Amino acid sequence: MTAPVVLDVRGVGKSFDGVRALSDVSLQVRQGEVVAIIGPSGSGKSTLLRTINHLQPPTEGFVTVHGELIGLRRGRNALHRLSENEIRRQRSRIGFVFQAFNLFPHLTALENVAEAPVSARGVEKDAARRAAEEFLGRVGLSDRLDAYPRQLSGGQQQRVAIARALALDPELILFDEPTSALDPELVDEVLAVIGDLARAGRTLVIVTHEIAFARRVADRIVFMDAGRNVEEGPPSQVLGHPREARTRAFLDRVL
Ligand code: ADP
Ligand code: MG
Repeated sequence: MTAPVVLDVRGVGKSFDGVRALSDVSLQVRQGEVVAIIGPSGSGKSTLLRTINHLQPPTEGFVTVHGELIGLRRGRNALHRLSENEIRRQRSRIGFVFQAFNLFPHLTALENVAEAPVSARGVEKDAARRAAEEFLGRVGLSDRLDAYPRQLSGGQQQRVAIARALALDPELILFDEPTSALDPELVDEVLAVIGDLARAGRTLVIVTHEIAFARRVADRIVFMDAGRNVEEGPPSQVLGHPREARTRAFLDRVL
């Protein structure tokens, strides 16, 4: 039996005052699938992730998660934008891990992870703290619960950010170059945690420059260039036998 479609991106386009960042991008991700997005700088990878959770509303097309339109509702003749509250509620079902960690500097690791379930879901504070301990354990940080971000390495901070995403029990998690801001010796500990999530059956979309990691962990690779989904397929095909000249040229540069 094929797993249900979690994420459906349909014909999404995005322009910023004349700059075309995305053109007619479609992408489907099924439950438990791990999709890696690769491509040159400026090809629209970050913009695609941000249109998925409506941090940047698409100018064309639409996104659904488990069949629910993100950011929009269908009216009789047109699509209408949801309220900010409704969009925030939808966004809380989609984990997002940024390149730059984005932790609250004045909160401990535990408080960073417990904050969203309390503020976004109304979870009781003690229960949220107990859950946060559990999630920090899963990313190997049981001994750093009370550390502030400045007391943690970049790799540890990014693992806190991953625990924070997990704390909202997301239906999918988006990663935007989660290891690009890290010193090289800290990359592997973060990739190992993401690999654990992949093996645990999480639905993940990962923008990454770590081609070897993508080959190992992804079920599917999407190559983007100039705002388009140029080609996608299993790692062995896209990385080993790309169909498109642009994919070959990119791989020749980075491999
Ligand atoms: P990538 O993540 O693949 O490096 P981006 O999605 O960041 O690419 O950018 C795609 C294109 O959209 C680039 O040309 C970039 O300059 C442009 N762009 C992205 N965000 C904005 C913005 N907020 N305002 C104007 N242009 C933007
Ligand atoms: Mg980017």
